[in-house]
Order: sequence, then C-alpha cells, then structure tokens
Amino acid sequence: MTKFNLQRVRLNQGGYTDTGQYFGIGMPLYEYRAEFPPTYRHVMFYPCDAEVTETNVTTDKDGNLHCPTCGHRVRKEYSDVCDYVRAYSRDDAKSVVAAMYPDATFYR
Ligand SMILES: [Zn+2]
Repeated sequence: MTKFNLQRVRLNQGGYTDTGQYFGIGMPLYEYRAEFPPTYRHVMFYPCDAEVTETNVTTDKDGNLHCPTCGHRVRKEYSDVCDYVRAYSRDDAKSVVAAMYPDATFYR
C-alpha cells in the first residue's frame, strides 16, 4: 500500500505557482507525492535471483552494499514519486493517481 500526499497547487492568473513555476491556466492543478521503499539492484551483468532488501542487504567495512546471497555489489535506488495532475476536483485527481498506482491511498 502506498500512501500519497495530494494537494492543490495555487496558480496565479498567468498560470504560475508561488515559486514561479509555469503550468498555464486551465483545470485545477494537483501535486501528488509518495515515498517508496528503496530497492537494491545488482551491479553485475548477470545478477543472482535473490531479492535484496533493506533488512538483508550487507555492508562491508568501506560502506559498500552487497547481496547477502551471491556477495556481489548492489546499488541502492530511490523511486520516490512527485508529479502533477490536472483535475476538476480532488476526488478526480485521486482517481487519476489511483489509475497509475492501484494500491494508492491518500492522507487526509
Ligand atoms: Zn546476488
């Protein structure tokens, strides 16, 4: 289950946000963001099948990350999401996000 933060972004009459980012005028704009757990990917060309996670990844004395099964190096990758959607309403925006992330739930 992925919990999203969804909030309306105010645009001025020129279609700019408070911070000067341009989106243009039109339907209400919503920002959605979520943090996903980091994933670990084998650096070697032919990886083993082991699933490397936050709990089983091993770290050597130099701070490098390794697969607990084959011992090869793995790379930590973040996949946080932050994007924008135009929608008539907050519920509409939720539907759009839920279509892309079927397990999405929302704060508030
Ligand atoms: Zn491995």
